[in-house]
Amino acid sequence: MLGLTYRGPGEPARLVELPTPEPGPGEVLTRVGANTVCGTDLRILRGEKSKGVELGVVLGHEVAGYVERVGEGVTGFELGDLVSMPPSVCCGVCGPCRRGHEHLCEDVHLVGYDINGGLAEYMLIPREAIQRGQLLKASGHLEPAQLALAEPISCCLNGMDNYRVEVGDVVVILGAGPIGLIHLQLARIAGARTVVVSDPSDTRRASATALGAQVTVDPTSQDLGAIVRDLTGGEGADVAVLCIGRPELVNDSLTLVRKRGRVSIFAGLGGEGWSNIAANLIHYREITIVGASNSGRASFARAVRLIESGAIDTKSLITHTFPLSKATEAIEFVAAGEGIKVAVVPD
Ligand SMILES: [Zn+2]
Ligand SMILES: [Zn+2]
Repeated sequence: MLGLTYRGPGEPARLVELPTPEPGPGEVLTRVGANTVCGTDLRILRGEKSKGVELGVVLGHEVAGYVERVGEGVTGFELGDLVSMPPSVCCGVCGPCRRGHEHLCEDVHLVGYDINGGLAEYMLIPREAIQRGQLLKASGHLEPAQLALAEPISCCLNGMDNYRVEVGDVVVILGAGPIGLIHLQLARIAGARTVVVSDPSDTRRASATALGAQVTVDPTSQDLGAIVRDLTGGEGADVAVLCIGRPELVNDSLTLVRKRGRVSIFAGLGGEGWSNIAANLIHYREITIVGASNSGRASFARAVRLIESGAIDTKSLITHTFPLSKATEAIEFVAAGEGIKVAVVPD
């Protein structure tokens, strides 16, 4: 089978011929339906993320496929079932796992890092993932690329569990890439009264409007803070969600929320991850800052059900599709900032 493999930090990914895996006892072999490219794949290739990434691994962790072969002892899956799995296989025994925060596992194995991922014709689902109930069946009416988005959607759900949206809230989203557009939709589902999306790109702001943002702002020519104050009687937004990894925006986010407002540092920050902030804003205004990283099985299952129900629009997030034979072009396309979500499908 063909698979797009990691060759080391800063090296271009290479499409190579690999043996098609055989499912052993407890494993399931899936025929990949689609894998959507993620910013994380780019960070791995650039060498910005190297912890836990193995040389030669097949990249891609946002994947959906069809059950092709079922290993000995596996029950509940049939040939042709449309399935997807959360990419983290956690240890179950470390501190975070024991506290129920498996997405923060200290000894995690990850699809696309050290488990062969979805930028290939076939993907083997590990026994541990099957045993832990991670492989989820979804309604066959979905396009596989829609189901592949369960991964980023589940991460956004985990983020939202931390920052919370209450009915009637005003939510500001900084960055209208795929992640910002997912937070926008979730905020609308959760009952936000107004969602404000800020992004310098005209096309991304147009996507935000199409997906329900009541207000979009071009931060290069408009005063986002003044617009938010106008919308909120001078108080500030209830929530700001940082969906772009620019350190200087952390402090901007603090200035956008009301007293006792919430700020989510959802995006990982570039460089060393440092940011200068006016900490007294947090102190005097009693602002809550929360993080979010990865997602667990429960968030993933919620994401799959949301996609199936149509409550979240996944089709309009997938703007481009590349055949697997052009997977390197797909990666370059995403790196150039083109499109929203780019799907790679086996030829
Ligand atoms: Zn991802
Ligand atoms: Zn663990």
